[in-house]
Amino acid sequence: MKRITIAKGDGIGPEIMDATLQLLKAAGAELAYDEVKIGEEVYLSGNTSGITKDAWEKIRQNKVFLKAPITTPQGGGYKSLNVTARKSLGLFANVRPCRSYHPYVQSKHPQLDIVVVRENEEDLYAGIEHQQTAEVVQCLKLISRPGCEKIIRYAFEYAVKNNRKKVTCLSKDNIMKQTDGLFHRVFDEISKDYPTIQSEHMIVDIGMAKVADSPEDFDVIVTSNLYGDIVSDVVAQIAGSVGMAGSFNLGEHAVMFEAIHGSAPDIAGKNMANPSALIQAAVLMLCHIGQPKVAEKIQNAWLKTLEDGIHTADIYKEELSSKLASTQEFTESIIMRLGQIPKKLKAVSYENSAPIELKPYHRKEVQKQEKSLKGVDIFVDNMGIKADDLAVELKKMEGDFASLNMITNRGVKVWPNGFEETYCTDHWRCRFLAKNKEQMSKEELIKLLQNAVKEKIDVIKTENLYTFNGETAYSLGQGQ
Ligand code: NAD
Repeated sequence: MKRITIAKGDGIGPEIMDATLQLLKAAGAELAYDEVKIGEEVYLSGNTSGITKDAWEKIRQNKVFLKAPITTPQGGGYKSLNVTARKSLGLFANVRPCRSYHPYVQSKHPQLDIVVVRENEEDLYAGIEHQQTAEVVQCLKLISRPGCEKIIRYAFEYAVKNNRKKVTCLSKDNIMKQTDGLFHRVFDEISKDYPTIQSEHMIVDIGMAKVADSPEDFDVIVTSNLYGDIVSDVVAQIAGSVGMAGSFNLGEHAVMFEAIHGSAPDIAGKNMANPSALIQAAVLMLCHIGQPKVAEKIQNAWLKTLEDGIHTADIYKEELSSKLASTQEFTESIIMRLGQIPKKLKAVSYENSAPIELKPYHRKEVQKQEKSLKGVDIFVDNMGIKADDLAVELKKMEGDFASLNMITNRGVKVWPNGFEETYCTDHWRCRFLAKNKEQMSKEELIKLLQNAVKEKIDVIKTENLYTFNGETAYSLGQGQ
């Protein structure tokens, strides 16, 4: 008997969780449950994290967590519990297998069979956001080398273990040369360790367009958090419905299984939700905890149900379906088919399925890099000033140790030699470089800021400009 933690969540969560538990029981899964309360009820009781200390304890103790979707209330400082859970438990990999069940579930892409491996802890989802001026807000995009190494190596390991042929990396490194550039570089490095797996990189925009147009050309996709979030929904939707795909979130200490969709408040309580995605998550979980026979039994009965045309509203099509089923009827139909195998859709065999294994990550010995401070970007709040006039003000800060190198507005160079027609907000990046020597000292940096205060220049933040091993490690201005 394996003890796991479950949470019924919000919206359609309780309906699809009850359906899943009913099916697990009927199929003979050897499971004991600790149920925890998370989500809307906890948020609205004044806990902005949406989860109590007791719930954390149960989840950490059992290490396997089956979670129904929850609702994150809008505004009010409520943090997404999904993001919190993934990050707090170190669940760095979000894995979303998706395939088409053509012709029983309508899809324009009968050959679709894709696994999206999405980085789960970093990127714009670090949730570090600030309003900096009246007109400008920012969100910090953080990408780390260990983060890239862990997710990319996992994607290749997954491909090897699951007989996949190719791993495609999606990034936008033509624009974000530091952050996405690092992701792409690490992908190129790690792919060399897996010569039997084909590897390719695509810029995310055209890559995603190709996924939507010809998904049969893709196999495993590895990408960073935001792109992964988007591409996995695209893949699930074009496979048939977001209501069909399960996923797992994996770390060294715990695994969380869930549907990829949300709490669907628009259909909550109507007994019409498709429980398939959570059922798929439960099937993945059964394989992971060493009950592959039960997983196989459920999966084949589920496929047979789809094949027999018993469909919930989201996938119901008059010409393909034989019965429009409620959540409950759909679940009962699967239970009735336990022990049967599909005739036309390919039956599954999980006999050789291994638990979702994870080798502990050991940070590579990083060679010490020669870091040199070349200058500083000082961000300034100033509404309505012209760039040339701002430059006159800023030059008063220079002293004999720094010189103003450029000013950009939203990344576009506006001084020196800017264009009249460039639209400027109140948010200016003012780049100062060390004058007449190789480096700027921290003391000079502070002096520069003191000069700014003296000249009544409203500094809102600074970013140090470094070279690492002599290589420039900051972006130039657009047009510079
Ligand atoms: P959603 O996935 O809940 O719904 C999108 C659309 O898909 C809706 O039309 C919905 O009716 C339909 N749909 C989703 N699941 C379905 C199912 N099983 N059967 C039939 N139809 C289904 O996305 P949303 O509307 O953007 O988000 C609603 C709430 O869910 C928000 O509060 C959001 O924060 C939360 N959410 C939670 C999770 C999670 O818990 N992992 C993930 C995404 C969104």
